[in-house]
Amino acid sequence: MFVAKRKDGSFFSLLDWKSREDVEHLTKGEQFFCPACHRTLQIKHGQVRKVHFAHMNDSCNASSESETTYHLEGKAKLYESLLHSNDKITLEHYISTTNQRADVYMEAENRKYAFEFQCSTISKSEFSKRTQLYERANIKPIWILGKEKLGNIQPQMKFSPFQWEFLQRFTPRSPPYILSFCPKTSLFYYLCPSFSINTSTTYISIMASKSWLEQPNFLNIDHDSWKEHFLHYKKKWRYSYSLYKPHNYLRKYCYSKMQIPLSLFPAEIGLPVPSFYRLHTPVIEWQAWLYFDSIYHTPLHSIIHVPTVLQNFKRRFKSSHIILRELPLVKTGSYEDAVVEYLDALVSIGALKRETPVVYRKIKKELPYLSMEEACKQDRIILEYLLHIKQS
Ligand SMILES: [Zn+2]
Repeated sequence: MFVAKRKDGSFFSLLDWKSREDVEHLTKGEQFFCPACHRTLQIKHGQVRKVHFAHMNDSCNASSESETTYHLEGKAKLYESLLHSNDKITLEHYISTTNQRADVYMEAENRKYAFEFQCSTISKSEFSKRTQLYERANIKPIWILGKEKLGNIQPQMKFSPFQWEFLQRFTPRSPPYILSFCPKTSLFYYLCPSFSINTSTTYISIMASKSWLEQPNFLNIDHDSWKEHFLHYKKKWRYSYSLYKPHNYLRKYCYSKMQIPLSLFPAEIGLPVPSFYRLHTPVIEWQAWLYFDSIYHTPLHSIIHVPTVLQNFKRRFKSSHIILRELPLVKTGSYEDAVVEYLDALVSIGALKRETPVVYRKIKKELPYLSMEEACKQDRIILEYLLHIKQS
């Protein structure tokens, strides 16, 4: 911590003093207290981030973040980066109503923000609890992932469930991003996922900025650099992944109900949709369940009812065949968007026709594939067609 309370109740920030000598002189013989728990603090002289306050026994109910050098450094740099704006900025702002200490707190244009610079993994429940507490106090939490926790930023990332929790967006229509900050360069990174091939590969568009942007404008969202990779993955999925043990149930289900081997699944399965990030389950798998449950057996020219599709889809959560992604910061929309977008993608490729928002009609029968080559060829034709009509 950098901010402590003095005996007279005033606050003392170590960041206001540049040299160690100044701090030593000013703090000599004085007692300092934690603004949250009121316990006595000691002054520590670290190697990198020179001076900071610490609890005697390291525990404080207002913060679960262990104060590593990286975290201290990041918090100080974050504070300095935000200072350039004209808004009211406070370092380590203690909010008594929620008993939380925001790393940096800001008031701007009648809006309140709490910046949480997170460098250690916290539990899902802790993340949600802290988010809700801020929200109830009408404060918008801005969760920032320490760059160190993210590793190298590349066009292809493997995000952990914890990192996905940082996904946020400005308006219900703006693209979601994961926000990160690097204390070494004082840069904010906005990582906007454009498509997930599977749980270990997500393609992203990256934007770096010297200042915090409430609404980053991703001009060049990369729409199809993942295309060849995905086609390759889909091919591998047919040739080998479909035989893997975790897909036993899907494979048996596919064979018993449809009398086709899973490797020859219709090319209509595995289409990109904008809300892909809602699901933890890879796109080929959740769409296979949906297709087999709700579309494959529908006779040609018959209708497909969206509420039934959703009901079937939901049933797969219970058995964990489909797993949703928990996104505590994304407030609007749901996995249902991904389901409807998939039905619309099937409309785009001419498999379905949309009659009303809740009624679709099957207008094309899936082809029976006689060989794997044929299936892979269809995968390419369908994906290229879909991406082509989306761009034009
Ligand atoms: Zn404390």
